[in-house]
Amino acid sequence: MTSATTLTGHKFERQFFEAVVKRRLFFTETFDIYRLSPNFKGDNRGLFDYGPPGCALQANIVDAWRKHFVLEENMLELDCTVVTPEPVLQTSGHVDKFADWMCKDPIKGKPTASGDYLRADHLIENVLKARLDRGTGGLTKDAPKLDQATIDEYNNILAKIDNYDGDGLAELIKQYDIRNPENNNEVLPPVPFNLMFKSTIGPSAASPVYLRPETSQGQFLNFKKLLEYNQGSMPFASASVGKSYRNEISPRTGLLRVREFLLAEIEHYVDPDKKQHLRFGEVSDVILPLLDRETQLAGKTTPQKLTVGQAVELKIIDNETLGYFLGRVLLFLQNIGVDLSKVRFRQHLANEMAHYACDCWDAELLTSYGWVECVGCADRSAYDLTVHSKYTGASLTVKEALPEPAKVEEWQATLDKKLVGPRFKKDAKAVQTAVEELDQTTLESLATELAEKGVVAIKTPGLADGSTSVALSKELLFIAKVTRQVNTREYTPNVIEPSFGIGRILYSLLEHVYWSRPDAVERAVLSLPLAVAPNKPIAHRISTRLRKLGVANMMDSSSASIGKRYARDDELGTPLSVTVDFDTLKYGSVTLRERDTMRQVRGPEDDVVRAIKGMVDGTDTWEQVLNRMP
Ligand code: AMP
Repeated sequence: MTSATTLTGHKFERQFFEAVVKRRLFFTETFDIYRLSPNFKGDNRGLFDYGPPGCALQANIVDAWRKHFVLEENMLELDCTVVTPEPVLQTSGHVDKFADWMCKDPIKGKPTASGDYLRADHLIENVLKARLDRGTGGLTKDAPKLDQATIDEYNNILAKIDNYDGDGLAELIKQYDIRNPENNNEVLPPVPFNLMFKSTIGPSAASPVYLRPETSQGQFLNFKKLLEYNQGSMPFASASVGKSYRNEISPRTGLLRVREFLLAEIEHYVDPDKKQHLRFGEVSDVILPLLDRETQLAGKTTPQKLTVGQAVELKIIDNETLGYFLGRVLLFLQNIGVDLSKVRFRQHLANEMAHYACDCWDAELLTSYGWVECVGCADRSAYDLTVHSKYTGASLTVKEALPEPAKVEEWQATLDKKLVGPRFKKDAKAVQTAVEELDQTTLESLATELAEKGVVAIKTPGLADGSTSVALSKELLFIAKVTRQVNTREYTPNVIEPSFGIGRILYSLLEHVYWSRPDAVERAVLSLPLAVAPNKPIAHRISTRLRKLGVANMMDSSSASIGKRYARDDELGTPLSVTVDFDTLKYGSVTLRERDTMRQVRGPEDDVVRAIKGMVDGTDTWEQVLNRMP
């Protein structure tokens, strides 16, 4: 199956699909009336508002997510602030490194749809894909054909486009004469552009802040409190659902690349020596389509199907806990109605992965825009907790009692305080701190050097005269190997992070469930499953009864014909519709219609209400209802 087919195997026509979701107000461009006004100079690209069915669908997806992950595994949910002080994001590495490579089109002329700035990797991708389409007869039959070697070369670059750094991208742009496709202008070499929105707290410029680009930092900063709340018990997970902000360079793909979006993130804290998962057995047979690093580097894009158990055993997925979450992610996507033939898990390439991560997989969904990363699953190792602890001095570790005391041998450095005080005066404290922070490897080599030369130089920040090191003779510093008895073990947990872009999932899902009646392309249907569909049935007086039973519904008392009302329901993805007509008044019976098959049954109001409630709860099926009711 390709991206361009619908559920029924017909060609996916994006313009019809977009017309339906816009007409039914699933979502709409924000500030629209300003954008359309002749005086408007601003930029609303990458910003969207959700309408009533979009809000309901989003809420239902988040609700399904909470049930599937947070409730199922007793995760500790947090709601942290969006506004984040600069030091937090400096420490996490975002201020220096959270950037994309950007090319500027320097020639001013007619404004282009993408503006004057282009994201370098997307620019190359778009140009090479267009050349492939043209050169293989995809777009225009009479365009000159590409030879096989060039086709292979382009496909090879595309398969590993995420692995190029700035220099690599610059080289590709030069070598393949990549230009702005909208005006054929040459572009300037790529430069990094930080994706965070910056502001200040209060009127003072001295307190810079950023809108968070992800929800995870707030969760990490609360780690110690959560561990205590969890009574010191490991492993455990925190979770958070909230808006995140990224100043994307050139957002052009609807809801897929936006500047403000809802993220649902889990941080699972685990002992680095015990990455097994207690419930691994529940997902070990789940089959995952895996596109691993080696396959991509070989220029290929065909995933291999392996069970989670096999992939972990073969070390394709780094560890059990990461494998467990990949399996759970697939089950979640299946629950909400994603087409599993349009899902793959792609492993990050070495350059694409954050330097601290030890493995990372994206769940990608196939859409008419190609494969889209919807869920990122990374093993972030101990990086975040370590850097925040180092900056703040707060301990973000776990201390566990050992089953029995153990002996450890280690290098220990001791300063003769009676001599160090008078010798270094104001600097004595800085010298002591520098010595306390020496790690075991450094201590070992210093011990040898001290024995050989009788003096060593120690790097010491913060000295009064601005120098950066002090010389310590063997009269002042003593380094020896000692044996200690320990009763506890202290470690910094590793973090496995599944991160869900709710907007991307929602959009891809809408594409997956969209189709049209074979007899008329304009008669669109969204086959959303009952679990997430915005409205369950349309009812008349039954509406109140259903609402009391917790079944969301919408009443349609318009004067439109029944056919038009059903067509509207189909476009909203309403799975079941109830119709009240003249026979209802006479006999007390109502009609229940199922969206995908358009089949109808008739029965007493009580039976219909009971059947709807059963189907929503998953205790009844449409087939059973069909058999039971005429
Ligand atoms: P990342 O932290 O970059 O792995 O992103 C986590 C998740 O956020 C991704 O898997 C996407 O689903 C989502 N995401 C990232 N950037 C955007 C964006 N600009 N618009 C919508 N969703 C996004």
